[in-house]
Amino acid sequence: LSEVMSEQLAKQLDEENAVFPLLLADEAPDTASDLMLAQMLQMQFDREFDDQLRREEKKFNGDSKVSISFENYRMVHPYDDSDSSEDEVDWQDTRHDPYRADKPQTTPRKGFTGKGKNITTKHDEVTCGRKNTARMDNFAPEVHVGDGLGMDLKLSNQVFNSLKRHCYSEQRRSARLHEKKEHSTAEQAVDPRTRLLMYKMVNAGVLENINGCISTGKESVVFHADGGSLEEQPVPDEVVLKVFKTTLNEFKNRDRYIKDDYRFKDRFSKLNPRKIIRLWAEKEMHNLGRMKKAEIPCPEVVLLKKHILVMSFIGKDHIPAPKLKDAMLNSEDLKNAYYQVLHMMQQLYQECNLVHADLSEYNMLWHEGKVWLIDVSQSVEPTHPHGLEFLFRDCRNVSTFFQKRGVSEAMSTYDLFNAVTGLNIPLESRGVSLLRQIVALEKRNEDHIQKRGKKTFPVTSEDGGPPLEMKRYKQMIW
Ligand code: ADP
Ligand code: MG
Repeated sequence: LSEVMSEQLAKQLDEENAVFPLLLADEAPDTASDLMLAQMLQMQFDREFDDQLRREEKKFNGDSKVSISFENYRMVHPYDDSDSSEDEVDWQDTRHDPYRADKPQTTPRKGFTGKGKNITTKHDEVTCGRKNTARMDNFAPEVHVGDGLGMDLKLSNQVFNSLKRHCYSEQRRSARLHEKKEHSTAEQAVDPRTRLLMYKMVNAGVLENINGCISTGKESVVFHADGGSLEEQPVPDEVVLKVFKTTLNEFKNRDRYIKDDYRFKDRFSKLNPRKIIRLWAEKEMHNLGRMKKAEIPCPEVVLLKKHILVMSFIGKDHIPAPKLKDAMLNSEDLKNAYYQVLHMMQQLYQECNLVHADLSEYNMLWHEGKVWLIDVSQSVEPTHPHGLEFLFRDCRNVSTFFQKRGVSEAMSTYDLFNAVTGLNIPLESRGVSLLRQIVALEKRNEDHIQKRGKKTFPVTSEDGGPPLEMKRYKQMIW
C-alpha cells in the first residue's frame, strides 16, 4: 500500500502513460462508422445463427412429411432481404391473420347470416371450427393448448368435444389427488373438516382448550382437552375427544360389527362412508350410556358432534390412566381387578344387553384402584349374528391375560363364557366343541329371526334380564 501511495511512483506512472495518447493521435482513427460496423457485425452474427438454425430444423424434421418450423426463433426476418417477394407469405391479404386469434363470430338470432347463395348458418363448419378453437381458451390454465389459439384452426365439434371431456376428467382427477392428500390422516393429524369441527367446539365454549393427542389408533385419534361449559349440563374439567377416522380401509374390517347390528341395519345400507363413520361415534355414545346406567366404570359422554365424541377423561392432570396391560399392579390388585372384570362382563351382558367385542387389557384402564372399560364403539347385542363368538373371544383375552399374570382364581375361557352368559353350555357335547356349539346357536338364532321377521323380534326382556331369545335358546337346546 505504501508503495502505491508513494508520490514518486505516481509521477513515474504518469510519465509512462503519457506515451500512449501520442501514439493514438498519430493514427487518427475514424470512429464515425463504429455504429454501422457493429450493426454489420451483428447482422453477420445473426445470419450465422439463422443458418445454424436452418440446419437444425432440417436435421430435426428429416424426411418427415409433417415438419416443425423454427421460423419464430430466427433473428433475421425475412432471412433474404433482397429479392424475397416470392417467399413472403401474403397473409396480410387474407381475411385471417394466422397470428391473431379469431373472434368467434356470433351468429345472429335468426340462426344464419348472408343472403341467397351466400347464406351461412350457425352450423357452418368453418364458423363452428373457429368458434371451437376460440373456446379452447376456457380450458383450465394447466391445459396446454399450444399455439392453436393463435392460428386459424378449425376444430370439428367431435374433436373439440373429446378434448373438452379429456380436460374435465383431468381436472377432476387432479382435484381428487389433491383431496386425497388433504384427507389422509397422517399420524395424529386430522382432516381439515374435523379440525374445523374441533375449533368450533372451542369457539362455542364447550372446550376451553385442545391440548394434544393421547393416542392414534387405526380407527380413531384421541385428544385431551380442557372442558368448558354447556348450557344444559356440566362439562368435566378434563375431557377427551375421540375422533373416528374416515379412511375407507378401516370400515371394511369393522363392517361386520355394525352391518348386522339390527339397531343400525336399516340405516347402514343407505349411507355413504362419511355417514357410516358417524354411526360408529353414535354407537359408542349409546353403548356408554347403557353402561353408565348399569354403573359400570366408564367414560361419561359429554357431547356427540358428527364423528367426534367428547367424553370425560379417565386420568388426572393431563396424565391418562394406564391400560391394564401397562399398569403396575401387585397380586392383590390383580386379583381384585380380575373379579371386577368378571362382574363387569356379567353386568354388560345381562344388564346392558351388550357384548364388548374388543375386550382386552388394551381397552381397560386402571384408575383410582378400579378397572374402567373404554372403546365400546364396536360393542353389539348378544343377539347379533356373531355376538356370542365375539363374547367367546373376549373371554379368551381376559382369561389369558389374568392367567399369564398369575391370578390363580382366573377361570378358563369356557368357564368364563358360561359364567358371563349363564348358558352353561358343556365344554364338549357329543364331540362338538364349545365354539362350534356357539356357532350353531347363532345359526339357529339367525334362522329364527328370518322366520319371524325382524320387526317382531324381541330385543330385550323388559325386566332387564337376559334377552328373551337367550332364554329361548336354553329351552330349545338344553
Ligand atoms: P381405539 O378404537 O383407537 O382403540 P380407544 O377408545 O381404545 O380407541 O382409545 C385409544 C386410547 O386412548 C386408549 O387406549 C386410551 O389410552 C386412550 N383413551 C381413550 N379414551 C380415554 C378416556 N376417556 N380417558 C383417558 N384415556 C382415554
Ligand atoms: Mg382401543
